[in-house]
Amino acid sequence: MYKEIELAISPEDIQNLEIIRQKALEKSGWDKIDHLHIRKRSIDARQRKIVFRLRVQIYQGELPQKPAGYLPLLSSVKEQPSAIIVGAGPAGYFAALELIERGIRPIIFERGLNVQERRKSLRDIQQFGLVDPDSNYCFGEGGAGTYSDGKLYTRSHKRGKIEKVLQLLVEHGAPADILVDAHPHIGSNKLPRIIQAIRETIEKYGGEIHFKSKMTDLIIKGNEVQGIVINSNKEILGNPVILATGHSARDVYRLLAQKNIKIEAKPFALGVRLEHPQPIIDQIQYRTKERNKNLPASSYNIACQVEKRGVFSFCMCPGGLIVPSATAPGEIVVNGMSLSRRDSPFANSGFVTEIRLEDFGEDVLQNPLAGMEFQ
Ligand SMILES: Cc1cc2nc3c(=O)[nH]c(=O)nc-3n(C[C@H](O)[C@H](O)[C@H](O)COP(=O)(O)OP(=O)(O)OC[C@H]3O[C@@H](n4cnc5c(N)ncnc54)[C@H](O)[C@@H]3O)c2cc1C
Repeated sequence: MYKEIELAISPEDIQNLEIIRQKALEKSGWDKIDHLHIRKRSIDARQRKIVFRLRVQIYQGELPQKPAGYLPLLSSVKEQPSAIIVGAGPAGYFAALELIERGIRPIIFERGLNVQERRKSLRDIQQFGLVDPDSNYCFGEGGAGTYSDGKLYTRSHKRGKIEKVLQLLVEHGAPADILVDAHPHIGSNKLPRIIQAIRETIEKYGGEIHFKSKMTDLIIKGNEVQGIVINSNKEILGNPVILATGHSARDVYRLLAQKNIKIEAKPFALGVRLEHPQPIIDQIQYRTKERNKNLPASSYNIACQVEKRGVFSFCMCPGGLIVPSATAPGEIVVNGMSLSRRDSPFANSGFVTEIRLEDFGEDVLQNPLAGMEFQ
């Protein structure tokens, strides 16, 4: 027998499984519960009394068999036809996993270093202000995703299977809490290990990953992509080619424009990053002087109109840090992240306004790079 019920649990009791089980039993009207599984967890701070809202599944009798996950479904693609992927960020690595699932061998080329070696480049940025254009907070194994904080919440539910992505992350070492929390978060300290585990999966099933391998040209013959050029001196023939080079690779946009491949300018958001003492946000959100130890550092979300333009907060990092995420010398760009414990005394968030095509100041149909030049 199986039932799904909703429970409200106080922050004091949220770690106590016995109390959760007892409340579930009372609410179910059953005489016993053999198994209990928490399916979703969120914080409701709308009322004076803050509660965790849990959706739990309860069972009597045999527990249904759990699906074995995605990794056991993969098999070697070593002898299979291949596809080229440029970029080892989240898009590149997830494309590789998807190709393996479909029986195609991914061959990945990444301009930066592997995730361990990349740490030295980050030290150079933080301590000496030196930016390596191929290895920084955005470029290198794992892409901008490696130090991306790992907030995994999205409002886009139509673009793919979110649960599959979360499950794959758990199978590569992410905490299982991300399958349950309404606003899942991994933390920048845990992401590098997960990225490395994903690389090991790709290699285990026959994929290849080449670091320090920047795509500098596309080989196009008869209107068809035939391969790529690496580091200006090595031709890699093969297709299809998947470009997973991310939004920071401006040289790739320039290359596409120069090759007359159809690209178009699109509106984006631009702004500043705000930093505040975390206790101020906690006091506003939780309306208490001291945050209960079972409540996480609190976040906020602001959206308003100013002079008929949308202004909104974005990428809020409770208990986080601001990091220099420039990809070229001379740029000043910052972003935010946090460790899994979210225990820094500061909160930060992006505060941005919409930038429209007409703001680029020229005919965007004539120049698809106008937005990039505006940046
Ligand atoms: C500090 C920080 C915090 C963030 N926080 C979050 C968050 O909490 N949640 C969230 O959802 N998003 C967050 N983001 C954004 C998120 O990281 C990006 O949206 C995501 O990484 C995009 O994935 P991608 O694979 O498309 O591109 P990228 O991650 O940019 O990866 C592209 C890869 O391609 C490589 N590449 C580029 N050009 C070439 C070339 N010519 N040849 C070979 N390789 C090339 C790059 O080196 C890079 O490894 C954050 C980003 C930063 C920097």
